[in-house]
Amino acid sequence: MAVDPLIELRDVNKYYGKLHVLRDIDLTVGRGEVVVVIGPSGSGKSTLCRTINRLESIESGTITLSGTPLPAEGRALAQLRAEVGMVFQSFNLFAHKTVLANVSLAQIKVRKRRKEQADQRSRELLERVGLAAHADKYPAQLSGGQQQRVAIARALAMDPKVMLFDEPTSALDPEMINEVLEVMRQLAREGMTMVVVTHEMGFARSAANRVVFMADGAIVEDRPPEEFFGAPRSERAKDFLSKIL
Ligand code: ADP
Ligand code: MG
Repeated sequence: MAVDPLIELRDVNKYYGKLHVLRDIDLTVGRGEVVVVIGPSGSGKSTLCRTINRLESIESGTITLSGTPLPAEGRALAQLRAEVGMVFQSFNLFAHKTVLANVSLAQIKVRKRRKEQADQRSRELLERVGLAAHADKYPAQLSGGQQQRVAIARALAMDPKVMLFDEPTSALDPEMINEVLEVMRQLAREGMTMVVVTHEMGFARSAANRVVFMADGAIVEDRPPEEFFGAPRSERAKDFLSKIL
């Protein structure tokens, strides 16, 4: 595939004290690609996500977004960070604001949109995630799957260039997992660039362009899903897959 790199990590290393949590990470995510990151608990998947938009500092290496190096701090960082949408395991919606207000808030504060303009965009996005009828409800009135779809709409409202998902379905009851994965599949079909940490191997097989397998802070394999699942090369990956499949 001819890669038009949107995110590039080169030789990235990160430590928590003495713990070497990201080791010599080289990762390129092309525009429109869906990269699924898997690996055992503690292997550094969440840290990798947070590093991509500099929620975490790094000790060495470079991270570029659309060819622009990520600055370490300040206004330039805030601007670049707004290009990266993040969805976590916990939805973190504001309990005392309506669904509509939750999706509009950052558009008004960060993107400086007028309220009417923000609300209109929010309604479009709520429609897209199948929640148009719930705009005026409060988060507690929604199921976990619906709340996570609101969180996705909220991230999309910033017009991100890339979406990072860190175990977006891990906190959901089983019957709600699919409605969230379906929204993510739809986004992928529309050409959104996505990095997805997940244990949903069905999603990895069907939606990923590449599977990145991490262990002990390093990328051990980075291959198309049919190759990875068909014939994992490393003992670590074989061992991991034997436990979860
Ligand atoms: P994963 O998401 O793959 O489970 P994490 O990126 O959360 O892994 O964690 C990688 C390693 O870094 C683990 O050993 C974890 O205990 C450690 N770690 C994560 N966050 C911190 C932190 N804020 N301070 C110290 N150690 C951390
Ligand atoms: Mg994690």
